[in-house]
Amino acid sequence: MRCLFEPRLVNDAFGDPGLYLDFRDERRSLLFDLGDITALAPRALMRLSHAFVTHMHMDHFSGFDHLLRVVLGRKAAIALLGGPGFIASVEHKLRAYTWNVVHRYEIELVLDVREVGPDGCAQRARFSSRSGFAREACAGLEACEDVLHDETTFRVRGRLVDHDVPCLAFAIEEKARLKVDKARLAALGLGTGAWLRELKHAVLTGAPDAHPIEVQWRDAGGAHAATRDVASLRDVILDVVPGERVGYVTDLRYTQENVHALSQLLADVDLLFIESVFLEEDREQAARKNHLTARQAGEIARQVRAKAVVPFHFSPRYEGRQQELIAEVREAWAPPRLAVYEGPLLA
Ligand SMILES: [Zn+2]
Ligand SMILES: [Zn+2]
Repeated sequence: MRCLFEPRLVNDAFGDPGLYLDFRDERRSLLFDLGDITALAPRALMRLSHAFVTHMHMDHFSGFDHLLRVVLGRKAAIALLGGPGFIASVEHKLRAYTWNVVHRYEIELVLDVREVGPDGCAQRARFSSRSGFAREACAGLEACEDVLHDETTFRVRGRLVDHDVPCLAFAIEEKARLKVDKARLAALGLGTGAWLRELKHAVLTGAPDAHPIEVQWRDAGGAHAATRDVASLRDVILDVVPGERVGYVTDLRYTQENVHALSQLLADVDLLFIESVFLEEDREQAARKNHLTARQAGEIARQVRAKAVVPFHFSPRYEGRQQELIAEVREAWAPPRLAVYEGPLLA
């Protein structure tokens, strides 16, 4: 069954960390981390509604400039979210450039920037190209447990973990999935077609009962068409099943507090992207650099009962030894499936 979104790493496992989530039926996407994002085509960046940043080390934030350059003058808005100090970091990035002409650009670009504090409360600021990206204060936001972003069809949760500096770990959660019962569909005398996608979208986004659906399909008897309302189809042919959950965890120490925070965020996650920077034989180096070893990543995957794991953020010192890192994660995690990322998927 199709998930609402398709997650892909931006770079290979030795490249800068970054996760791109493409929404299949909408022209939009989410991005987690803004390191080297030049592997993403400009059209992929133009689809971004939100970018989430774990922390402001260069391999996670230096691509802010690239993103800004691609969207400036072409896109109306983008929302950015990060941890403590994020708004000031965005402001400093913007202050580094001269903006004497951008106010005349036909398309105004507004950056809606939020940062989550250690208490879970969020501050908000706005930067518009019309005013040369001067910082405009906005009202702060109430803490809402660990939900950082909430829409009809999905939510993004986040928790701060310790990487010597605070760093956000994320869970992206599809709220529900709809499954078509083919037998009940056939009993209604209807055939499958693109209209099922339209129906699912209407149901997931809370369309009114009377909302019409143009039902069109083809079979041996030729083309057929009928109009039905959402209510008459929803309850008959669709079953609601739990949505898919994806974890994005990178840059953290292996501490009890971190493992506890991740257990709360990611219990039973379907797909876990997790940093595996060092081999266990270099455990001391990993601790000094505030990173996980591959074995520690596998242990976390086991503790949160992840159903599939994608290790990434490998240290360049292991170039050519990728299989050893993967094997170490697999051994500590144990279940039979390990999704292995094999190079950039995005053109
Ligand atoms: Zn870092
Ligand atoms: Zn990093």
